[in-house]
Amino acid sequence: MVVATHRPSRVLIDESAIYNNVTHAVADLDDSSALFAVIKADAYGHGLLRVARIALAAGATGFCVAVLDEALGLREAGYTQPILVLGIIEPQYAELAAQHDIAVPVAERDWLQKAAKSLTGELPLKVHTAVDTGMGRIGFTSDADLRAAADYMQAHADKFNHEGIFTHFATADSLDKTQFHQQATRFNQFVAALPVRPKYVHVANTATSLWHRACHSNIVRFGVGIYGLNPSGREISQTPYALQPALSLESALTQCKHVPAGTTISYGATYVSAAPEYIGTVPMGYADGWLRRMQGFHVLVDGHECEMVGRVCMDQFMIRLPHAYPAGTKVVLIGKSGGKEITLQDAAEYAGTIHYEIACCLSERLPRVSINKISES
Ligand SMILES: *Cc1c(COP(=O)(O)O)cnc(C)c1O
Repeated sequence: MVVATHRPSRVLIDESAIYNNVTHAVADLDDSSALFAVIKADAYGHGLLRVARIALAAGATGFCVAVLDEALGLREAGYTQPILVLGIIEPQYAELAAQHDIAVPVAERDWLQKAAKSLTGELPLKVHTAVDTGMGRIGFTSDADLRAAADYMQAHADKFNHEGIFTHFATADSLDKTQFHQQATRFNQFVAALPVRPKYVHVANTATSLWHRACHSNIVRFGVGIYGLNPSGREISQTPYALQPALSLESALTQCKHVPAGTTISYGATYVSAAPEYIGTVPMGYADGWLRRMQGFHVLVDGHECEMVGRVCMDQFMIRLPHAYPAGTKVVLIGKSGGKEITLQDAAEYAGTIHYEIACCLSERLPRVSINKISES
């Protein structure tokens, strides 16, 4: 996609915030654990390679991504650290993963048999067996199937290296710990069913690392915390260290006009000015990931909350200003202005979603600009 660099709409990424968040998370680990930075989906919209570089400088020792292409992108950029893909890849790409020393999850023994056909054995494929303890997404569901897969890998050790076992919690970000404890217990049963304990045993996402101990795991798959976001939204406000949000979003007015009462604004004429008003136009829209359902939410101009009036268009939206401002005046969509602040959590709540989704939706058309840069270590 074309990046709109000749337009004032942009995502600012505070590199030192990312650095601090990862540093705190690493300091919080016990001695036997390592932090793998979860940088899938272009690092939750913050930039894959930027976040990879900062996370390593801050003490991460490996990466997790969602798809094989993200892992290959890291290898292509020269990263040699361990990488685990979190989603199931198609078995015909097993050899490609093996050649690039990329670990993949396996959830069915059939997958191993299919993958074995593609694997040359030149380099064994690193496998983390996924076990489903209550997430219902990917993973073995019975001890017997898990053990059969482990035995198969043992018997084909030229092709497979059973490097890890892991699970994923559905409710680690919830005050109610019932399901969490059930899943942790089930996980320990799965691990006990294995003839050999793999090198990596891991269960923790950000929420687990913040609010749960007691799991004998040795990797934390640290995701949303990197970006300074609380995985629970507002449900659990207490965190062992302060999370510093890294992303802000800003633009600038392209026009400001004075309109009489009764003026309609945007498609569908859903907004009609009640009185003479100042209406500003902002050059960003749903094609940038600023969703149509943000209509009625507000942005900040010069420390004033300004309502987004009328429908959000593909590339522009309108706001009601308290008085005239010249074109070029800064507009803050996420971040601080004057004494006010709008967080990703605020925007997510308004849109009826979670901050993860708002961050991931910010499209590639928006340039990502680093501030407070962390230099290469
Ligand atoms: C995305 C993901 C994570 C990271 O989750 P956060 O809530 O962002 O910390 C960890 N593990 C798995 C399996 C994931 O899919």
